[in-house]
Amino acid sequence: MGTFSGHRSAVRAIAVIGAISLVAACSETGGGRAGTGAARGYPNQNITIIVPFSAGGPTDTVTRMISEPMAKKLGVRIVVQNVEGAGGTVGAGDVARAKPDGYTVLMHHIGMSTAPALYKDLGYKPLEDFETIGLVTEVPMTIVARKDFPPASLTELEGYVKANADKVTLANAGIGAASHLCGLLFQSAAGVKLQEVPYQGTGPALTDLVGGQVDFMCDQTTNTTGQIKAGKVKVYAVTTPQRVKSLPDVPTTAEAGLPALQVSVWHGLYAPKGTPPEVVQKLSEALKVALADQTVIDEMAKLGTAPVPATDATPEAHTAKLDEQLKTWAKIIADAGVTAS
Ligand code: ASP
Repeated sequence: MGTFSGHRSAVRAIAVIGAISLVAACSETGGGRAGTGAARGYPNQNITIIVPFSAGGPTDTVTRMISEPMAKKLGVRIVVQNVEGAGGTVGAGDVARAKPDGYTVLMHHIGMSTAPALYKDLGYKPLEDFETIGLVTEVPMTIVARKDFPPASLTELEGYVKANADKVTLANAGIGAASHLCGLLFQSAAGVKLQEVPYQGTGPALTDLVGGQVDFMCDQTTNTTGQIKAGKVKVYAVTTPQRVKSLPDVPTTAEAGLPALQVSVWHGLYAPKGTPPEVVQKLSEALKVALADQTVIDEMAKLGTAPVPATDATPEAHTAKLDEQLKTWAKIIADAGVTAS
């Protein structure tokens, strides 16, 4: 059951972060040969961080937050490029195949650990085709609906979707996205199969939710907090064991009657396999600096999240998390019987 086709088209949007002088950076380095030489001279040109979802969505938001202080620390510009499609797998695949020189980096989320269980022909292996740089943040999700969607609580939502399964639409950012995963958990907890509407990211999905074109979805607080506070969407619950400080009135899924629905969206930075360890180390150090930046901490707090502790912004902690999550989600997804193309 539940076979879907992923969207393989990629849309690209670019932004440049950090107006740091390249001349200054180059004079510090003295060249860009391959191997250890390149690592010693690193970085001496712009670094691109690929975001595998739409601009304006939660993964994009977190990336742009940390890019500025990372660029400052590294002394070069950071370009954020959105390579959308197939629940984040198009952008991840691009980075897996990129030159391992530290100038192409990926920001991904929990989807890195769910996609292998969903796609038969993913084209990359998370543990084998990437170097982990470090974890970034772990973000609660919210279950939100268009403002005039009838159910008033999570329990009512459950009953409503069961009674109207042929009509209700559930938005997500494609197979393998966090929103897809959370939607899957919701449907499995509620014992219902709904019509899913895939987007290239939850940025545009939320726009459509506000506009009333789709009924409900799950998304990170880093995207939904503003619209919840502005009263533009209805919120049912946060998907974490504890309430979120920035949304104190919103119940947890456990409080709202659906304790089985628990998910938080961890983000991490990756480089292609074979990127020199010294380069990965420099990126990891810059990530730690960004996560200790007071503006980043404050911005994340406003959006219901926080940077991971410095000890988790390391390749070792990141690999351990990825490994554990690949195993966890492989089982849950196999039990749910869902695959993409
Ligand atoms: N929140 C999205 C997801 O469902 C991704 C995004 O647009 O950042 O995975």
